[in-house]
Amino acid sequence: MNNKAAILFTICFLSFSSSFSQTIYSSIKNYTVFYGSAKRNKTDWFAIRRFENSGKTYLLLVDPDELETKIDEAALYNLSPMTMVQARLYYYKSTYEKALRTAEQQSKSIQDAGIQSGMPKETGISLTADLCPSSRPLDRRIFTDIFQQFQKVEQPVPVALSITGIWMRDHQPDLAWLKELQLKNQVIITWINHSYNHRVSRTLPLKDNFLLEPGTDINFEVLGTEQAMLKNGLLPSVFFRFPGLVSDQQLIYKITDFGLIPIGSDAWLAKGQQPQSGSIVLIHGNGNEPIGVNDFINLLKSKTKSIAKKQWLIYDLRESVENEFEGSNP
Ligand SMILES: [Zn+2]
Repeated sequence: MNNKAAILFTICFLSFSSSFSQTIYSSIKNYTVFYGSAKRNKTDWFAIRRFENSGKTYLLLVDPDELETKIDEAALYNLSPMTMVQARLYYYKSTYEKALRTAEQQSKSIQDAGIQSGMPKETGISLTADLCPSSRPLDRRIFTDIFQQFQKVEQPVPVALSITGIWMRDHQPDLAWLKELQLKNQVIITWINHSYNHRVSRTLPLKDNFLLEPGTDINFEVLGTEQAMLKNGLLPSVFFRFPGLVSDQQLIYKITDFGLIPIGSDAWLAKGQQPQSGSIVLIHGNGNEPIGVNDFINLLKSKTKSIAKKQWLIYDLRESVENEFEGSNP
């Protein structure tokens, strides 16, 4: 291959891999939890799931330092299967393992456990918008306003969306619209697992509510959502957000045992919590909490000058968590 051909090949390959997250896996079989080191070209990925699709075996892989994920064919990797205990020792010094440990240490409160903020030294926030089941359409103002404010400053704008299986099932046109924004490079979306059913009761106390409700099939809530994401062409991230932000210690350990990092929030805007530098802001994108979205839009307006000077930005959740834990030793 001459130089020109090599460059062309590289460009084609890169553009193929960057659009890889939109690949649709429509006939998934044997979707299982699988842990191990997956090495290729000196890069050591952490495999957390394995599945088959149209006769090929695939892995869901995590970069233990950058916290990025990807799906790739298992045959391309040198695999060393591990138990989760072995894996956590093997990756002990990684950002990923530090984030899991921190989430476990912050696991006792019934509400808002897990990682609540990232890099406090930066001015700006990470935005998370939850897509809980809802009969209302997507609150598109979030995305159109962000795009308007940031188009000259930061593109694509990183947002993290916590998505449920039920929302994906019931909101196909909205989902297609979000994917199009991503294809047009206006936003880059980190998809957070927010459970499949997101059950909630108006009467039960928190300790028996949401995923703590008796009879909850946590396997399906986690793995069913991931499979629904893959069938819809969404790439699962390494993050999980508890419905209602409600969990107990046992549930936190169940989630970290799936290899996922629980993400809380220190600024649920509709509850009047004020965002600070490095906050993980929570709003609802499912149309059920317009007050929070209004607050967010007002926040953006109040920062217009700082945004224009690049002094206030929206940060990628993966980078925020990575920067919070890299080099630290919690
Ligand atoms: Zn929710």
